[in-house]
Amino acid sequence: MRQKVVSLGLFLLASFSSAASDKNGFIFWQLPPQINTIGKEGQEHLSIIPAPVAIQLREGVFKFDSTVVIVPSGNGEVQKLAGYLSDKVFTPSGIRLTVAKPARAGGKSIKLVLNKVFSKIIGDEGYQLEITPAAVNISANKPAGLFYGIQSIIQMLPPAIESKVRTGGEIWELRAASVTDYPRFGWRGLMLDVSRHFFNKEEVKSYIDQMAKYKLNSFHWHLTDNQGWRIEIKKLPGLTATGAFRVPRTGTFWTFEPPHPDEKATDGGFYTQDDIREIVQYARERYVTIVPEIDVPGHSLAFIASFPQASCTQLPYHVNPGSPHADEDLVLCAGNEDNFKKLEIILSEVSSLFPGKYIHIGGDEADKRFWKSCVKCQARIAKEKLKDEAGLQSYFIKRLEKILHSNGKKLIGWDEILEGGLAPDASVMSWRGSEGGIAASKMGHHVVMSPGQYCYFDHLQGDINIEPTYAGGGVLRLSDVYRYDPVPPEGGPGYILGAQANVWTEHIPTIRQVEYMTWPRALALSEVVWTPPDSRNIDSFLLRVESQFPRFSNAEVNYAPSIYDPIIVPQKDGKKLLISFKTEYRGLDIYYTFDHTFPDKFSDKYQGPIEIPKGASEIWAITYKGKMPAGRLLKVAIDDLEKRLQELI
Ligand SMILES: [Zn+2]
Repeated sequence: MRQKVVSLGLFLLASFSSAASDKNGFIFWQLPPQINTIGKEGQEHLSIIPAPVAIQLREGVFKFDSTVVIVPSGNGEVQKLAGYLSDKVFTPSGIRLTVAKPARAGGKSIKLVLNKVFSKIIGDEGYQLEITPAAVNISANKPAGLFYGIQSIIQMLPPAIESKVRTGGEIWELRAASVTDYPRFGWRGLMLDVSRHFFNKEEVKSYIDQMAKYKLNSFHWHLTDNQGWRIEIKKLPGLTATGAFRVPRTGTFWTFEPPHPDEKATDGGFYTQDDIREIVQYARERYVTIVPEIDVPGHSLAFIASFPQASCTQLPYHVNPGSPHADEDLVLCAGNEDNFKKLEIILSEVSSLFPGKYIHIGGDEADKRFWKSCVKCQARIAKEKLKDEAGLQSYFIKRLEKILHSNGKKLIGWDEILEGGLAPDASVMSWRGSEGGIAASKMGHHVVMSPGQYCYFDHLQGDINIEPTYAGGGVLRLSDVYRYDPVPPEGGPGYILGAQANVWTEHIPTIRQVEYMTWPRALALSEVVWTPPDSRNIDSFLLRVESQFPRFSNAEVNYAPSIYDPIIVPQKDGKKLLISFKTEYRGLDIYYTFDHTFPDKFSDKYQGPIEIPKGASEIWAITYKGKMPAGRLLKVAIDDLEKRLQELI
C-alpha cells in the first residue's frame, strides 16, 4: 500500500512539476509554465495573502445564494470545516449555506474533498481550489489544507465577510479561478509575550484566530519572565500565587518605581490549566500549534520571587514591575538540585497540557556572574567536570532536554543554548541575527529563524515622531519584513523549519496595541514563509495589504496605517542640509510646511530634495491619495534632522 502511494506521488510529481534544487540544496517544487501563467496580475485580482503558488483566472463568477450546498467528504473534521464556512458566510450575509451530503441535483455546491487527490506537491497543508460558475471544489490531502483553501475563498469574498454583524449591499460571489497552493515552510510563527503584560484568555484566542486567517500555524506563547509567571502548575501553586502578580505601574516600562515596602502586588494574572486546554483546543480547530515557553535559567525572577531559595543569592525578591533593577539579571542557581526537581514538575505538567512536539525552554540572556560567585554552582562545575559557566549553561539545558524527552517532547531554545555545547537533539530559535541558526543547522539541528533585524515586532513601524511607543531597537517597516528570506544567502543544509516574528510586550500594555504592532507586519511574514520567493512582489503585496485594512476594521482588529505616512530622509549637499521624502505605499503625494501650519493639498508639494528656509525650526508633512489625506501628520525638528544624519553616518 505504501509503495502504491509513493508511486502515485512520483507520477504526479513527474507529470505536474519539476523539482529543482537551489545552490543551497533546498528543494523547491516548480509548477510548469502553463499553470503558473498569471503571477502578479492573478495575485492582485484575487488579493489573497499570502500569495498562492499558482493562480489561473477563469471566466465567470460563482454566486452565493441559499441554493448553495456545502458537501463535505471525508471524516468528521471535514464536516466541522463545512460548518465553519457556513457560519462564516451566514453572519454578515444572512445566506445560510446548507451542509449536506450529497449535493442537490442541479444545484450549486461547494465541495470539500479529502484524500481524493493524492498530491505530494501540496503536502499536508496545501490545497487545490477550482471555482466555476456552478461549483467550488477544494481538495487537499489533510484537513489543514481544506482549512487554508477555505481561508483563501474567504479572502476572495467582500471585506464584509469579516463583519460580526449582518451587512447590506454586498455582492457575495467568487471570481472563477483555479488555485494550487502550498507553503514554503512548515513553521510559520508568531510569538506573544504575555509576561511583561498579561493578556486574557479571550484576547489570546482572538490573536490566534487572526493569525490563522493568514495561514500562520505556530503560536509561540512566552508564558514566563521576570515580570510574571502566567501558567498554573498544580503541584507548585506558589508560582502563580506570587509570581503572576506585580505592583501596578503606568507610564514608560523600565522607568517604573520598584515596589514600596508592604505595597500589594495586584497587577497581572495567569491562565488556569482549564484555560490552557480551552485555548489549545481553539488553536487546534484553526490548525495552529502552540509552542509554550518556560524561560529559564535567566528571565526567571517570577520563579525566584515565588521560591527565594531558587537563586544563587537565596535572598527574597519581588516580581519586577518594569523597574531598572539589578535583579532583572538574576538567574536560577544551577547548583541547586531542588530547582531541577521543580523544573521536572513544571515541564511534565506543561508537556501534558500541550499536544505539540516542541517545548521552548528559553535559555537566553542568562547572566553568568551569579554562577561565577556561587559556591553551589562552582561545586556543580567541579563535580560534573565542566569547563566553565558556559559549560554549566549547557549542562542545565541538557538536563531539561532529558526531562522533555521523558515526557515525549523536543526541546527548542533561543540561540544562547549553543553556548558551551548544544544539547544532542535540541532545535534552535535564532534571534541574535541569523548566525546562531546557521551554526546550528550546520551541526544538523533544526532551526527557526527569528532575527531581531526582521522579526522583532516590538520595533517601530515608522517615524518615532508618529509611532506611539518606543521600544528601542530601531525601525522595522512592513517592507523590511517583506524583504526577509529565512534561507541565508550563504546557505547551509536544509534544516530551517521556517521563521517567526516576536511581539515582546514591555511597551505594549493592551491587546489593541499588540494588534497594532502585529498587523500588517505579520502579513509580510506570512508571505515570506508561505509564498515561493520568485512569486513575491512588493507592489502587488502592498495593494493586497491595503485590501486587508477594511477586513481588519470589520473584524475589529487594530492595525498600523504606517505605510501611508511620510518617510523623511535628511541628506547633505556639501554643508547644506536637504530634505527628501518617500513613502512605502506607492503613488502618494506629499505636502509640507515650515511655518507650523497644518499641511494640506494646497501647501507646497514635494517634488525633489528641499532646501530649508532660513529660520525654519520644524518641517510638517502629510501624504494624500488623490484628494484625500492618506497618512498621519509628521512633525520633525530641523535640529533633530541634523542628529539623525549624524546617526546615519
Ligand atoms: Zn548558584
